[in-house]
Amino acid sequence: MLEKINQWIDQTLIDFKDKRQSCDRFRGEFAGYYSESFLCRSYFVVVNDIPKPKFPELYQMGLGDFVDMQAAGITYKDTYFVKAPYAGDSSLHFHELVHVHQWSLLGAEAFIQRYITEIQTHGYNDAPLEQMAYRLQDRFEESTAPTDVLNYVQKHL
Ligand SMILES: [Zn+2]
Repeated sequence: MLEKINQWIDQTLIDFKDKRQSCDRFRGEFAGYYSESFLCRSYFVVVNDIPKPKFPELYQMGLGDFVDMQAAGITYKDTYFVKAPYAGDSSLHFHELVHVHQWSLLGAEAFIQRYITEIQTHGYNDAPLEQMAYRLQDRFEESTAPTDVLNYVQKHL
């Protein structure tokens, strides 16, 4: 199953390659939170519908609610997808970039496995990988002193 999801993701990233944009544009806004080199190797795609692997197996695994959830954004490896109405929401971009880093540190199959297990065990809102992203997003919105996100994620993963 992991393999199947992983292949679907790779194909999806190929399909959208021409539409992806570099996160380099956030280097000013996210300075102190994300390094420039990290932003340069991260991407986003603005879409009308978030692409999701709607495999019957995922519904059988109890992930139907998550698969059908009307999410504003989702991250696959080094690229996240945002729905067009949210394209200008920097807080959402910030959140998805936390996931880009989680993907990169864990590796694709380990990330997918852990994310699925967390959703099954805790539900989406309380999934630790999500909690971490929301916690950092809150810090960004409070905009006191920047948190080094890459370092924080590495320590708390
Ligand atoms: Zn998230």
